[in-house]
Amino acid sequence: MEQYDLLVIGGGPGGYSAGIAAAKAGLKVALFEKEHLGGTCLNVGCVPTKYLVDKAIALEKVRSLVSKDIFREAGSLNFEQVIKGKAEVVEKLVSGVKMLLKKAGATIINGEAVLLPDRTVRCGETEYQGKNVILATGSETIIVPIPGHELCIDSTDVLNLDHLPASMVVMGGGVIGLELACAFAAYGTEVTVIEMLPEIMGREQKEAVRMLLAQIKKLGLKIRTGARMLRVEEENGLKKAVYEFKEQEESILCEEVLMAVGRRAKLSGIDAAALGLELDPKKCIKVDEHQRTNLPGVYAIGDAAGGLQLAHAAYAEGEAALADILGEEKPRAKYIPACTYTIPCFASVGLNTETAKAAGYEPVMGSFNYAANGMGLAEGENGCVYVICDSATTKTLGVTIVGANASELIAFGSLAVEKEMTLAEWESLVVAHPSLAEMVREAALDAFKKAVHKA
Ligand code: FAD
Repeated sequence: MEQYDLLVIGGGPGGYSAGIAAAKAGLKVALFEKEHLGGTCLNVGCVPTKYLVDKAIALEKVRSLVSKDIFREAGSLNFEQVIKGKAEVVEKLVSGVKMLLKKAGATIINGEAVLLPDRTVRCGETEYQGKNVILATGSETIIVPIPGHELCIDSTDVLNLDHLPASMVVMGGGVIGLELACAFAAYGTEVTVIEMLPEIMGREQKEAVRMLLAQIKKLGLKIRTGARMLRVEEENGLKKAVYEFKEQEESILCEEVLMAVGRRAKLSGIDAAALGLELDPKKCIKVDEHQRTNLPGVYAIGDAAGGLQLAHAAYAEGEAALADILGEEKPRAKYIPACTYTIPCFASVGLNTETAKAAGYEPVMGSFNYAANGMGLAEGENGCVYVICDSATTKTLGVTIVGANASELIAFGSLAVEKEMTLAEWESLVVAHPSLAEMVREAALDAFKKAVHKA
């Protein structure tokens, strides 16, 4: 049996990053991947969807400049080329991950790994023994078994459409559904989102969500909340999405129905019951703050381990697991930023006013509008930055941003929340001008009525 310090099952962001870091730390590492290195994120998730979103943002930008008579001609989309270009980016990134693993000294084993007792893994005919094992097997799309569900496409299929659909119904107003809905609406597809819950992004800062909804509606996107999809039928070569709204049946005839209601942990190669591996109520692998499972020396990270289903959460969990393996004290990160790449982007980290109150704080909120910021105005962007602070200590509790580049600006928020930045620290900080980043500092100062550029 081949002996290793660490066996990693799954080559997605959780698995590959933990594998690279462990090999760089001097451990003898083998990583098993049954499909493509990079997992969901690089192949069919974060990166390819952002390629699509980026082209949609560019189209919107050009349209806005044409409407102001700054550009003379509007661009038109070559959808086939978008799909082709996306594939090239994916290929580049996947080969980059392979190179990084190899250069770090990790062994890549292509094939499905099966977890056996006592940190043994079987792949094909060979068995491998690990001092430690990290399970990073990821997640899969949830298919709701409504009649006609087989007529629907999922987020992977949508990335490989051979033409731009004229119309699309998106079942699910969560992150994935909204991102794709915005991108296709900007491309010119007639999109309707059907969401069962009474509101979109119900757990986020209310003012920011209102601002987002007002802006995404300008894309022509329709959103039906409190509506339950009942079935999908075929009609005249199209699909008929039938849903219940206010106890009435309504329907939409469309070219494609995209099912995007969420993802669940995928435990392929792991027979939890036979191994005695504990799962949580959502059927994810149960872990502690060091990502340890109940099996000695076996860790779980990423989508398979519950928590936030985000690539950077998987990276952070991998770091916590590796630290524990190396005997270092580094529990799982407390604050994970969350971004929804709608048009415009929505990003948040830490608490909002409601969750801050629930946690026992007396929060104060400052805000700053893109329309009052030099760079925001120059770029013609709309949006707002909200910073939540504790009124007693002035510490920063949370940041929410809706607007262009929110996913970049939120890094500033992560730093402020992680380091519990106080008013005095915000005041001593100098931010380049003109920049969108100025808004984050101004919003923090505004929480204490000290923003200079706000009346
Ligand atoms: P995965 O990326 O799912 O990787 C798991 C890997 O394990 C897979 O490659 C699989 O083949 C392999 N595997 C499984 N079982 C075995 C086995 N037994 N043997 C060998 N190999 C095995 N997150 C963000 O942070 N930002 C985004 O913008 C974002 N956008 C997304 C858009 C879409 C459409 C989707 C679907 C997801 C998106 N996500 C995003 C979520 C993100 O992709 C996941 O959170 C992330 O990929 C989870 O990483 P992971 O390593 O846990 O699992």
